[in-house]
Amino acid sequence: MIEVVPIPQLRDNYAYLVIDSDTKKAGVIDCAEVAPVLAEIDRRQVEVVALLPTHHHYDHVGGHEDFLRVHRVEVFAYAGQRQRIPGCTREVQEGDEIPIGHLVARVIFIPAHTTGHVAYYFPEEHVVFTGDTLFVAGCGRLFEGDAATMMASLQKLASLPDETQVYCGHEYSQKNLEFALQLEPHNAALRQKYERVLALRAQGLPTVPSTIAEEKATNPFLRWHSAELQANLRRIDPNLGNDPVEIFAKVRALKDTF
Ligand SMILES: [Zn+2]
Repeated sequence: MIEVVPIPQLRDNYAYLVIDSDTKKAGVIDCAEVAPVLAEIDRRQVEVVALLPTHHHYDHVGGHEDFLRVHRVEVFAYAGQRQRIPGCTREVQEGDEIPIGHLVARVIFIPAHTTGHVAYYFPEEHVVFTGDTLFVAGCGRLFEGDAATMMASLQKLASLPDETQVYCGHEYSQKNLEFALQLEPHNAALRQKYERVLALRAQGLPTVPSTIAEEKATNPFLRWHSAELQANLRRIDPNLGNDPVEIFAKVRALKDTF
């Protein structure tokens, strides 16, 4: 059985402790700040076997060196990214499987935010960790890839089973949904999601997990086909064409200044 513990990091990041409750072995996704992660490990009495960073940005790997001073564990990186991931012991590629006790994390390569960004997908348990590529109702900035690359990465995630639970790298959901509502004010699923997120944030609770089904219904970066979204984009830019990549790029550009 999988148990996922979101651990708030820095200002609005999440690390995740992923526990195999049968063996009490665990992995840590995106360890930025070590103290809260170590406290959670202690409290739950689990044995961490791996650090699983989604990408090399400081707010996802900043805790590696401090962590490795306390626990020697495997540290994964996408192929060719070893130099960017502190403490890397093993490079992995698309489709590689990483055991955590009885759990298996499958690597999905999803570049664009960075060239070496990966997701960790647990197919048996229907859980995916998407870092800064797919957020709740949003997507990451295009630091090291173009709109077409990001679209392809998001489509890979969107093709996972509908019930897959989505855990992302930042708590950006409320603002992302406010942006999404400007483009699709009549999307009922989006309005309901926004109400749920407001209620969670009012209690100081995380808005993860989402699901792939909810993201397909609400995330403007997966909704380039929506007539309402397209009509609102054309109100802003009457010259916008019909090419999905162009539509996606327009949404990304608008979000950059939202
Ligand atoms: Zn990042």
